[in-house]
Amino acid sequence: MDIEAIRSEALTCTKCRLAETRTQVVWADGNLDSEVCIIGEAPGFNEDKQGIPFVGAAGQLLDKLLSEIALDRSQAAVVNVIKCRPPGNRDPQTDEIEACKPYLSAQLNHMRPQVVITLGNFATKFILDSPVGITRARGRVYSRKGASIVPTFHPAAALRGGRFGGISTIDAMREDFQLVRNVLDERRAMKEAEAVASEGSEQLDLFG
Ligand code: URA
Repeated sequence: MDIEAIRSEALTCTKCRLAETRTQVVWADGNLDSEVCIIGEAPGFNEDKQGIPFVGAAGQLLDKLLSEIALDRSQAAVVNVIKCRPPGNRDPQTDEIEACKPYLSAQLNHMRPQVVITLGNFATKFILDSPVGITRARGRVYSRKGASIVPTFHPAAALRGGRFGGISTIDAMREDFQLVRNVLDERRAMKEAEAVASEGSEQLDLFG
């Protein structure tokens, strides 16, 4: 099934109780054909009203962090682990995450992203398939199915102004976004080197 068909299916999904309280399903924003996938937790009040992920204060901070590493939503997809708002912004429940899993999996299978940024505990545990929390998981790059995974705090945590070890949550996020920039630069350099090498071997063929 192509991603548009899966999206249509998701928009009328009734696989879990959140269908009864949502205003609308929040599918994705940004570019699902890009190299970077950013995964949040669940739509909040504004997202549920507008049908777009990360449009509130957390979204504005996310956009700022992206712009600091020269990215915007035309170069990254923004999605959530679950596509419907939990009432009162409570945590997603295990059966809700399970019911919604095929949609995020379909988005990732469609994208085959080079880099996945996981924002907060829910996305990080989902993608790394590990119970390790974000405070311990962040600060390094993981490899899964050909993608580089960069876990970081949820922007809402930075907005609450917490501190992590010796630094503020926002500065820890800046460090993690710099890892994203480095991974993208390294991957691009590798692709360019491969292109030059294959050009070289074509020339050898020509002269051989
Ligand atoms: N927080 C999230 O995790 N996702 C959104 O879309 C908005 C806020």
